[in-house]
Amino acid sequence: MPKRIDGKAFATSLRHRIAGAVAELKAKHHLTPGLAVVLVGEDPASRVYVANKAKQTVEVGMNSWEHRLPADTSEEDLLALVDKLNKDSSVHGILVQMPVPKHIDSAKVLNTIDPAKDVDGFHVVNVGRLSTGQEALTACTPVGCVMLAKHALGKLDGLEAVVIGRSNIVGKPVAQLLLNENCTVTIAHSKSKDLPAITRRADLVIAAVGRPEMVKGDWLKPGACVIDVGINRIERDGKKILVGDCDFASCEPVAGHITPVPGGVGPMTIACLLWNTVRAASAIKGVATPEM
Ligand code: NDP
Repeated sequence: MPKRIDGKAFATSLRHRIAGAVAELKAKHHLTPGLAVVLVGEDPASRVYVANKAKQTVEVGMNSWEHRLPADTSEEDLLALVDKLNKDSSVHGILVQMPVPKHIDSAKVLNTIDPAKDVDGFHVVNVGRLSTGQEALTACTPVGCVMLAKHALGKLDGLEAVVIGRSNIVGKPVAQLLLNENCTVTIAHSKSKDLPAITRRADLVIAAVGRPEMVKGDWLKPGACVIDVGINRIERDGKKILVGDCDFASCEPVAGHITPVPGGVGPMTIACLLWNTVRAASAIKGVATPEM
């Protein structure tokens, strides 16, 4: 296993396996999984992201629907669309792209999605199921992080894991997943004292902070596995570039394994979304999820 974890290649192989699973559901159960994505407003990054989701959904053989609503869409109209998608039996996954405009209560929208179709894993029912060790649709980026860590390390049992960041979309669910993998988990955040000392304890570091190149090589235990979730756009030498939350130049020589940015965790998110849609479709139809 090379030191640099190639998330792009792993995500490509995962999508191939998902395409195989979709073909099996079609052949055995006449079931074509379908994903509906809702975008409210014109945010350019969200538009690109939603277009990529739709493209990859079709590429693995699933049905894809895009609902683009104007930025002044009322909360009531958005909730009515979610309700319609909840009732549509050809739709197995519903994703409302975040952030939604400020006049809309995002928690209300997320909790209106049928938990069985909540492929983003943000509904309180799925969060509760995850934290009580039950079968749950789980947030895509955290699932991708754990897949990459297991790809690099095999079993995670007994490892000291430090998650830097406690957001509902990354930090908390990834910590919960690692706990379910029998890691000893520490969650650090902006009020944590002596973060370098905490991080130095870790066999596995998950950085989900949103601060460019914050984690330095001398914060790491030699040989630690580093999963860098951060996506930060910065300017260097007059060029706009993407960097992670870890300072790759100083971390790579110390780490045992490390994800680059870009090309690490990023490509895993959509692949895991597609996988969640296969799982949701199988569960709704009452058939076994194909082996991967
Ligand atoms: P949030 O801003 O929601 O959370 C950041 C977390 O980092 C908070 O818990 C915050 O602590 C903590 N934090 C901030 N500053 C420090 C500090 N100096 N020391 C320690 N902890 C700190 O971010 P997200 O979780 O949404 O995203 C994190 C990063 O991951 C971002 O770069 C984002 O772009 C990226 N991302 C990538 C995805 C992908 O690859 N597909 C998907 C989602 C996110 P506190 O709670 O105390 O404020």
